[in-house]
Amino acid sequence: MKPAPFEYRRPATVAGALADLAAAEGARVLAGGQSLVPLLNLRLATPPVVVDINRVEGLDAVVEREGRVHIGATARQSAVLASELVRSRLPLVAAALARVAHPQVRARGTVVGNLCHHDPASEMPAVAVALDAEFTVVAPDGSAATSPPPTSSSAPSPSPSRPAAWSPASRSRSPRQAPAPASTRSPARPRTSR
Ligand SMILES: Cc1cc2nc3c(=O)[nH]c(=O)nc-3n(C[C@H](O)[C@H](O)[C@H](O)COP(=O)(O)OP(=O)(O)OC[C@H]3O[C@@H](n4cnc5c(N)ncnc54)[C@H](O)[C@@H]3O)c2cc1C
Repeated sequence: MKPAPFEYRRPATVAGALADLAAAEGARVLAGGQSLVPLLNLRLATPPVVVDINRVEGLDAVVEREGRVHIGATARQSAVLASELVRSRLPLVAAALARVAHPQVRARGTVVGNLCHHDPASEMPAVAVALDAEFTVVAPDGSAATSPPPTSSSAPSPSPSRPAAWSPASRSRSPRQAPAPASTRSPARPRTSR
C-alpha cells in the first residue's frame, strides 16, 4: 500500500519544527522512519503533516550534562550503541540496543523515536524505566518540561493522544546514580530543560 497524502515539512530549527507541529492537528514527527513509515504505508496512521526533524542541527548529540546522559532526538541507535559514553555510563542501554532489530534498522532508527513509538515488545521502554530515564518534552509554545517514560503496556498508538507535544531528547541516569528505592530516595536533583 501507499500512504494517504500528507504534507512533508523539513524544518532546520527546533522553533520551526514546533511551528510545523502546531500548525496542523495530528501532525507527526518523522525521526528514523522505521516505525512511522510502515504505519503510513499501511494507512494505520494518516497524519495531515509529517515533520522531518533530521535537518534540525544538534539533535543527534549524545552528551553528558550534570551527571546525566542526554540522547538527542535524532541520535541513531547505531550511534548510541557505539558511544563510549553510553557504553561506560549506561551499559544496559548498549546491551539492549545490540538486540534491537539489525544493523540496517539501527542505522536509521533513533532511540527517542523508539521510546516515542512505545511498543511494549521493544527493549528500550523497559530499559528507560529501569534507568529512571526522563523525556524532555517541548510544547508548541516552546516551554520545556521533563516527564518519565510511559509505563502502560498498551500497543503503540497510530494516533498519539498528544500529537503536538514533541520529545527532542531523552536522558538517563547512569546505573551508579540510579535512584534508591522510593522510601529512601534522596531529593530530586535539579532538572535542566535540555
Ligand atoms: C525490520 C524491523 C525490525 C525491528 N525490530 C525491533 C526490535 O527488535 N526491537 C525494537 O525495539 N524495535 C525494533 N524495530 C523498531 C525500530 O527500533 C524503530 O527504529 C523505532 O521503533 C522507531 O524509531 P524511529 O527513529 O525509526 O522513529 P519513527 O519511525 O520516525 O517514529 C516512530 C513514532 O515516534 C514518533 N516520534 C519519533 N520521534 C519523535 C520525537 N522526537 N518526538 C515525538 N514523537 C516522535 C513518530 O511520530 C512516530 O509516531 C524494528 C523496526 C524494523 C523496521
